[in-house]
Amino acid sequence: MLSVVIPSYNEEQMILRTAGVLESLLSDEHILHELIFIDDGSKDGTWRQICEAHEKYESVRGVHFSRNFGKEAAIFAGLSEAKGSCVAVMDCDLQHPPQTLIEMYRKWEDGYEVVEGIKRTRGKESAARRTATGIFYRIMSKAVKIDMSHASDFKLLDRKAVDSILEMPERNAFFRAMSSWIGFRQTQVEFDVQEREAGESKWSTRKLIAYAISDIVGYSTAPMQIVTGAGIVVFLLAVVLGIQTLVRYCSGHAVEGFTTVILLILLIGSVVMFSLGVIGYYIARIYEEVKGRPKYIISKRI
Ligand code: UDP
Ligand code: MG
Repeated sequence: MLSVVIPSYNEEQMILRTAGVLESLLSDEHILHELIFIDDGSKDGTWRQICEAHEKYESVRGVHFSRNFGKEAAIFAGLSEAKGSCVAVMDCDLQHPPQTLIEMYRKWEDGYEVVEGIKRTRGKESAARRTATGIFYRIMSKAVKIDMSHASDFKLLDRKAVDSILEMPERNAFFRAMSSWIGFRQTQVEFDVQEREAGESKWSTRKLIAYAISDIVGYSTAPMQIVTGAGIVVFLLAVVLGIQTLVRYCSGHAVEGFTTVILLILLIGSVVMFSLGVIGYYIARIYEEVKGRPKYIISKRI
């Protein structure tokens, strides 16, 4: 059986439409399936729509979060609810073409265990956002050691892959990177990002930046190495200035140089603050992991 996990947040206009499209497509292709809608604490009528879809199609299941926990949490909830021998994850807004899902399923039947959806084109995006995403993916690709520049959350995983992802205890998970990291027999399927049919994007710039920082910190210790680098640079400066100061002292004119003192205090102060900030960020993350709170809380199921 194929389980399709669909994270949905404030998608009341899309639930029935998506359910209908997937239902008819999967039935036509004679693929035994279940559709799992994860209502990520929506504030609109999403849950009502999921209940309605459940009445209309018996393959529809729903999970409701007690509040908004974010898309990552929704994906993980879906993975652990899924009963199928393969599990697909796709967006609720039909930006991931359902036809590609069939293509992925066929690849799975051919024996692939992780089938990744790769964005051939990224759809409409502003130039600033494209640059920012470019930088982010360059860092992430280095950290995960896999090219991620066209990665998406649109994926189909075999039961074995799903179980190995669910076994990872970390709270701050990044599904896109994890599914590459686990290995297995992987393949890719290209797709064009479609226009969103109804509703609007749920990601504000602020939310995206926070998400990006948290993903980088979760997968890479490079920012900590930047601290070491800054330390080395400041140390070299200190050696040069130290020698200069001593030479001046010995040759008898040591009073001047107040500007240097001010500049040095400013420079060292900011480097120290910056470094503390970076280290603090990692400590915060360790603290979060140590607390071991659940990734999400489910309040209702149908
Ligand atoms: N989503 C979610 N929780 C959130 C934000 C988004 O479950 O906090 C879901 C949303 O309902 C959609 C998918 O994640 O199914 C992708 O979101 P969206 O289409 O807004 O992102 P974009 O396509 O603009 O990147
Ligand atoms: Mg979308």
